[in-house]
Amino acid sequence: MTATLPLRAELRGLEPYGAPQLDVPVLLNVNENPYPPSEAVVADVAAAVAQAARGLNRYPDREALGLRSELADYLARESGVRVAPEQVWAANGSNEVMLHLLQAFGGPGRTALSFAPTYSMYPEYARDTATRWVAGRRAEDFSLDLDQVDELVAREQPSVVLLASPNNPTGTALPQAAVEAVLEATAQVPEGCVVVVDEAYAEFRRTGTPSALALLAENPRLAVSRTMSKAFGLAGARVGYLAASRELVDALRVVRLPYHLSAVTQAVARAALAHADALMAQVGSLRSTRDETVAWLRGKGLTTAESDANFVLFGAFDDRHAIWQGLLDRGVLIRETGPEGWLRVSIGTPTEMTAFQDALVEVAGL
Ligand SMILES: *Cc1c(COP(=O)(O)O)cnc(C)c1O
Repeated sequence: MTATLPLRAELRGLEPYGAPQLDVPVLLNVNENPYPPSEAVVADVAAAVAQAARGLNRYPDREALGLRSELADYLARESGVRVAPEQVWAANGSNEVMLHLLQAFGGPGRTALSFAPTYSMYPEYARDTATRWVAGRRAEDFSLDLDQVDELVAREQPSVVLLASPNNPTGTALPQAAVEAVLEATAQVPEGCVVVVDEAYAEFRRTGTPSALALLAENPRLAVSRTMSKAFGLAGARVGYLAASRELVDALRVVRLPYHLSAVTQAVARAALAHADALMAQVGSLRSTRDETVAWLRGKGLTTAESDANFVLFGAFDDRHAIWQGLLDRGVLIRETGPEGWLRVSIGTPTEMTAFQDALVEVAGL
């Protein structure tokens, strides 16, 4: 028997989205940290979970202020920018943080603006919150065209602008001047406009590349989102967070589900934060491997985008799917994403990168 379900028109016929999760030896497709937590971290996380388990008959701390305060401390250490615990928001992955932002500031009759190519989830968050989605285009080198920003902001009057820096899938970071230009352009929107800088990959940025956290003090409409999924190597824990003005964070507290962050998640995140240095010990070597990978690809005559992230977008291939499939046949899974002809590879361990390079030489005849 088939039921007639009152599915929203814009969801009809759609498949759930997500990168293929295939069981192959070399996984370089979703920008994870290839290094699992050390046994010392595992032991502390396990002990914290055991302690949380003893209180699982009770609902968790709804405000998660302990965790938010430790995230604020971490941000101060990482970027030199100090915010109050009440200026930090945490949720189940930065995916959920973005959803909260669009629930609070998007919605029917409102517009979210971004610049393609960018994170493929953004249009889905917009769709799910019935927010109109408008995407401008980045320039040839994947930088923002500031004239186009002015034009689109004036024409579309967005209530949210989403900027990823470093951007996914390109890896390119925005100069501070570009973020400031977007803040200035959006100051003209009469109803107000929240500018979100998604810094999921911030810890991998090259020396001299700024973080938008430095702009928070002057900009109550700015939100800078981060995650424990990438540099922290905790993708499985599902913890994302943002820093913004108290006013902005208070708006997110209105739309979150009660007790959205489980006691177990909070315990895991706090135990892991106590080991931030150990968890991120490999970030330096991942950055070097990233730079070496860029140099190697360019040495082979390929084009790569500038990368401040833990992945590299490279190309261009006449038949990128054939290259992707050829690598997969050799046990190396990368990502078929970005503009036509390009592919994205995450930075793995040195052994994994050698496997990638050997397979690519064979498949692409480099
Ligand atoms: C991976 C990624 C995230 C992280 O999402 P989580 O939900 O925190 O795992 C956020 N933004 C971008 C652009 C990403 O690539």
